[in-house]
Amino acid sequence: MVKNTLLQVWPIPAFDDNYIWCIHDGDSALVVDPGDASPVLQYLKQENLFLKGILVTHHHADHTGGILQLLQLLGSSIPVYGPAGDDIPGRTQVVIEGDKVEIASPRISLEVYEVPGHTLSHIAYFANMQANIVEPMLFCGDTLFASGCGRLFEGTPTQMSQSLAKFMALPKNTLVFCTHEYTLSNIRFALTVEPNNANLITWAQTAKSLREQNLPTLPSTIGQELQVNPFMRCDQKEVIDSALKVSGEKTLPSPAHVLAVIRAWKDRF
Ligand SMILES: [Zn+2]
Repeated sequence: MVKNTLLQVWPIPAFDDNYIWCIHDGDSALVVDPGDASPVLQYLKQENLFLKGILVTHHHADHTGGILQLLQLLGSSIPVYGPAGDDIPGRTQVVIEGDKVEIASPRISLEVYEVPGHTLSHIAYFANMQANIVEPMLFCGDTLFASGCGRLFEGTPTQMSQSLAKFMALPKNTLVFCTHEYTLSNIRFALTVEPNNANLITWAQTAKSLREQNLPTLPSTIGQELQVNPFMRCDQKEVIDSALKVSGEKTLPSPAHVLAVIRAWKDRF
């Protein structure tokens, strides 16, 4: 029998609302942002998978807290890819914009994007079409969420706007693997910004139904986010009008100015 080597991506729930994404071929596995080791260990055991690498998007503890224990228990030679400029426990490979992470097993090639905003050294991993995947895939950490974006702990609205623009240029069918289940609260805010967005209204019902069945609302797609995510719609009239109203400004000269207003509005929402 020919073994089906299509890659699979599964969420491993952690803490209250984190997802640690596991990419595997039925034998070898990678995990993205393992903030906690125990759910990862349990999942690998249950699925009979061998951990061959760890991808890290940024330094926050809920994305890195499980790395050292995984290395201790599963092998200290497992490569750990992560951004420069911050202390990532166990990191063996610093990766920067334009780098390609080539992994033999499970076989996958990932391009690195620097996406400052949530943190200054935040990176994302993009798998463009290759033989063993059905759609391009983006592992975006806490930069982009379904119908929302990460808080600006370290970066500026302009940096976040430029980072999201990189994602907006990706193929529309790119699957977006966000690291938190924040979708319903993000939708509540998005509907306040764009109450007349028909796609958003439909998505609100779909997402609610998924959560009622305790199912993830992820992955999203770039095409979907372009239709429903106010932080990716800062050039749209209704988003601009809402931002003008909330800020009291007469004009907001660029999408980054609009993003600054709606990000600050979301922080106090
Ligand atoms: Zn974070």
